[in-house]
Amino acid sequence: MSDPRDTLQSVFGFPDFRGVQRQVVDRVLAGQSTLAVMPTGAGKSLTYQLPAVMQTGTCVVVSPLIALMHDQLRAATAVGIRAATLTSVDENRAETRGRFLDGALDLLYVAPERASTGDFRELLDRGNVCLFAIDEAHCVSEWGHDFRPDYRLLRPLLDRFPEVPRLALTATADRHTRADILDQLGIPQDGLIVAGFDRPNIQYRIAPKDNATRQIADLIAEQPGPGIVYVPSRAGTEKMAAALAKTGRPTRAYHAGLDPAMRAANQAAFVASEDMVICATVAFGMGIDKPDVRFVAHAGLPKSIEAYYQETGRAGRDGDPAVAHLFWGAEDFAKARQRVGEVEPARQAGERTRLAALGGLVETTGCRRKLLLAHFGDDAPENCGNCDNCLNPPVGTDATEVARKFLSA
Ligand code: ADP
Ligand code: MG
Repeated sequence: MSDPRDTLQSVFGFPDFRGVQRQVVDRVLAGQSTLAVMPTGAGKSLTYQLPAVMQTGTCVVVSPLIALMHDQLRAATAVGIRAATLTSVDENRAETRGRFLDGALDLLYVAPERASTGDFRELLDRGNVCLFAIDEAHCVSEWGHDFRPDYRLLRPLLDRFPEVPRLALTATADRHTRADILDQLGIPQDGLIVAGFDRPNIQYRIAPKDNATRQIADLIAEQPGPGIVYVPSRAGTEKMAAALAKTGRPTRAYHAGLDPAMRAANQAAFVASEDMVICATVAFGMGIDKPDVRFVAHAGLPKSIEAYYQETGRAGRDGDPAVAHLFWGAEDFAKARQRVGEVEPARQAGERTRLAALGGLVETTGCRRKLLLAHFGDDAPENCGNCDNCLNPPVGTDATEVARKFLSA
């Protein structure tokens, strides 16, 4: 077999692998099932696309969103990879099946609900599959933050092809969720590869809120560059945008309830701008590639540590300094606890654990980054020196600890 690096350069045009990509690709090419936990933007897609190009047979990619599949399809086709999607909105499904059976596809994208049908099983029986890639694999776990029952139906399909390796991919899985993914998808314990999660150029700042709008107005007065303000409600994004506009900064609102043309226009304006503040619900961000976002501010509690990491991770993709602010109130926790009480019983324990972890992050007087990275199983032995608590150690338990150690030394 040729050198994966040659294919990386000739097909994808990248000079070298990044982070753990090579490790993952080597396992896949050796036929070993793997769970790769890599942060957003780390280049997970490449870890199945490259083996798919190098090997005969098709890589079947399970992906939860049709819109994401079509983005991936466009990107893959653009570099000359033979790819297709098989979804309810594709009118060329018969043609796609034919291409698969002819061995003329490197990648076949499907949603989990289609993958688990008898029709699809039969199709695969008649063709040649070299790899199963399961994207957003945390969806298979009730411990994950985005459980999709359809992901549970994949296992019988995978087990039908015991010789075909499985590659599960996710950006967001705590220890518990990872163990569950391995178990649910039948991947051996030693098949886990975790990439570094640290984003050293992001400064984490978390504070109680009294008036989030005023607090955010104050901070943007001192914070140049483009920024994202996450607001819990759709109506709230528009109010926030109007209030922040009074500071003189260009602002826009973004949420799923806006007219699609306006939503697209606001997103495009933000991507092109050097100083705009976009006030958005969490609907904003997926698939948006703006490297120079200088700050992200949460005007309320995110859904989980995973969500916090993902949303703050949209700041400072260019590697230059960026700040992540979070303003929270006791009432946010009260509401979140109430929501936990409303989810189906099987998921309540997971939701409660997630909420407790979030509580730990906002209330800690220690290093935020250390706590955040520990949550993802990443070691950060030293205090980071780039979060509010490291920069201005709060007077409290930790300060007393330090004082005691100092006195007893
Ligand atoms: P993820 O799914 O992990 O969030 P993607 O697979 O969407 O990330 O990749 C993020 C970006 O990184 C894409 O623009 C991709 O082309 C780019 N990329 C992936 N691998 C490399 C590499 N080895 N060198 C340079 N860029 C890469
Ligand atoms: Mg991805």
